[in-house]
Amino acid sequence: MADLVLRAARVDDAGELVDIAVSDGLITALGPHLPDRGSTEIDCAARVVIPGLIESHLHLDKALLDADRPAHDAGLAGAIAVTAELKAGFTVAAIRERARRVLDLAIGNGTTVIRAHPDVDPIVGLRGVDALLELREEYRDRIDIQIVAFPQEGILQAPGTLDLLRTSLRRGAEVIGGCAYNERTVADCRRHVDLVFELAAEFGVPVDMHADFADDPADPRFAMADYIAETTARTGMGGRVTLGHMTSLAGRAPAARARTLALLAEAGVAVVPLPATDMHLGGRCDVGVVRRGIAPVRELWAAGITTAYSSNNIRNAFTPYGNADLLDIGLFLAQTCHLSGARDLTRVLAMATTEAATVIGIADRYGLRAGAVADLVVLSSHRVADALLDRPDRCYVIKAGRIVARTSRIRELLPIR
Ligand SMILES: [Zn+2]
Repeated sequence: MADLVLRAARVDDAGELVDIAVSDGLITALGPHLPDRGSTEIDCAARVVIPGLIESHLHLDKALLDADRPAHDAGLAGAIAVTAELKAGFTVAAIRERARRVLDLAIGNGTTVIRAHPDVDPIVGLRGVDALLELREEYRDRIDIQIVAFPQEGILQAPGTLDLLRTSLRRGAEVIGGCAYNERTVADCRRHVDLVFELAAEFGVPVDMHADFADDPADPRFAMADYIAETTARTGMGGRVTLGHMTSLAGRAPAARARTLALLAEAGVAVVPLPATDMHLGGRCDVGVVRRGIAPVRELWAAGITTAYSSNNIRNAFTPYGNADLLDIGLFLAQTCHLSGARDLTRVLAMATTEAATVIGIADRYGLRAGAVADLVVLSSHRVADALLDRPDRCYVIKAGRIVARTSRIRELLPIR
């Protein structure tokens, strides 16, 4: 007897409906008309089942600050400045309370894994990391949280940060972050990258940096991709390095951009566009024609680069929107990057599922296959290719074989009397 069996699930638009059997938190069998019986059974009735959604880049510690202090003017520097003022007053308890609200939203929306980037700097110290270490335990049966130690304020221009990063990694952060552009000079940006890779080697952890987050690469601090690709190749870190934003790629001449994309692909560096933030903060100095300022997703795909997308921020100065809903962000990515049709939309969905799993290093235990962890979402859609377009209900959210959220909705069209 299996713990749970999902019946008649649509997992592939071309194939048959399948049953999915789950025991001890793992998928034990997946195929048409399984003979297994389950202690609990869910009739999917030809609705779509996807593996759990993955937020590969999310700032839980800075979420939901917009009510305290909305940023009206902005751009990236403005958002960093407003948030720096606010975070001076952060307490561990306040961070936990805001992060919990986002975690609950994310779980209800079908997210089963989050890679979180708490700030680590002399302003907030280790309060963000400590709050997330506690939440990682508190939520462990409902959602997995990976913690990235993230030096938002820079490393060289914020003395003391390097020691705080080391302490974060000792306390249990699993990934070293970076903010490659946030130093005073290009030489310091390169040193910042070097320090991040040195910490990665010292602690044996992957790298996940914010990089090249500008409309164009005229300021070379926002054109670090080539140097990061070279450093990745030199240190043998291919497959364990991720770069968030990378918006200045879109502002480069096509030939130069193609060279950089080839370097990133060759080195095994993944790229994560963050469309809600990139579109909100980008193009602020453009007059007349305002550019979209988002990494060129179709070109990333064509170059063979592993890609994911994520929410980045929920309702703060960087991104005054969001409900921790990855299907929402995926639709927005498709709309802003000229992606459409079944092939494109299925690939976009993969950027929040199977490709995101590769980006955050969990592909060996993830997916719709026997042996994988049973992180599953039953959607109200009936075609996988429609999962973004439909804005479907997350009928059931299953984390490691247990149902952790359920949504049902009734809508009736009424006759005119
Ligand atoms: Zn970020």
